[in-house]
Amino acid sequence: MVDSKPLIPVALTIAGSDSGGGAGIQADLRTFAFHCVHGTSALTCVTAQNTLGVNRVDALSPEAVGEQISAVVEDIGVQATKTGMLLNAEIIEQVAREVERWDLQPLVVDPVMVSRTGAQLIDDRAIMTLRSRLFPRATVITPNRYEAEILSGLKIETVDQMCSAAQQIYDQLGIKAVLVKGGGLQPSCRGTDVWFDGHEVQTLHSEMIDTPHTHGTGCTLSAAIAANLARGEDLLSAIQQAKAYVTQALQFSLAIGRGQGPVGHFF
Ligand code: PLP
Repeated sequence: MVDSKPLIPVALTIAGSDSGGGAGIQADLRTFAFHCVHGTSALTCVTAQNTLGVNRVDALSPEAVGEQISAVVEDIGVQATKTGMLLNAEIIEQVAREVERWDLQPLVVDPVMVSRTGAQLIDDRAIMTLRSRLFPRATVITPNRYEAEILSGLKIETVDQMCSAAQQIYDQLGIKAVLVKGGGLQPSCRGTDVWFDGHEVQTLHSEMIDTPHTHGTGCTLSAAIAANLARGEDLLSAIQQAKAYVTQALQFSLAIGRGQGPVGHFF
C-alpha cells in the first residue's frame, strides 16, 4: 500500500484570489509547488481582475477565513505560513487570532497595503490592525517602498533611505525582522532589498530585470520565503534564495493579456 502521509513540507497561504492567475493565492500555490512544498490555502477575498486592472473585490467573512485556517492546521499541520491580501480590519483581526491560537510560526507577512504603483489597497483602520495585531507575530514582514514609507513615516528614494526605514520599522513596531523591497524605486535601486533583524542592516542585491510584466512579484517573494522556511532553511538564506527565485520569475515573466502580465513560474 502507498503510504499517504505527507513526506514533503506543508505551507499555508492566507491571501486573496486573483482571477488573472498572476498574484495572490494562485501565485503562492505555484511558488510552493515549484519548491516541492505542499500548498494549502485560506482565501480572504475574491478579486475579478486581469492584466488591465481589478474590477471587483468580494471579501469572505472573517469566520470563513478562520475556519479554513483551522481545517488545514488541525488535520494537516503546516511548517510555515504566509499572509498576503487580508483586505479589512475584521479579517486581519481573525487571522491574528488564528495565528495565536495555532501558533502559526514561522510567519511571513506581506503587508499588501499599497500596490507597486502607489495605490492604497486597504483602509487606515486595516493598516492600524496590521500594525498592532499581526506584525508583532511575524517572523519577517516584507513591505514595498510605499508600505515602508507609511510604516516608517520616512520618504524613500534611495537605498540609504531604505536602510533608515528598515531600522525605524524594526524599532517602532517590535517586529523580529523586516525586508524592505526596492522594486518600486528608480532602476539603480530596483534589484536591491534591505534586510534588518536588529543586528546589522544588510543590502541584498540581485540582477535588475527590465520587464513591464511584474504582477505577482511581492506575492511570489513572500511565498518563496515561506516555502524555504517550511523546508527548514534559516531566515536569511530563505530570503536570499527567494530573491533568486523572483529574479528568475521576472526573467520568465509572461506577456499575456493587453496590460501588465505576471511573473512566470515555468523555468
Ligand atoms: N493579492 C491579490 C489578490 C492581488 O490581487 C494583488 C495585486 O493585484 C496582490 C496580492 C499584490 O500583488 P503583487 O505581488 O504584485 O504585489
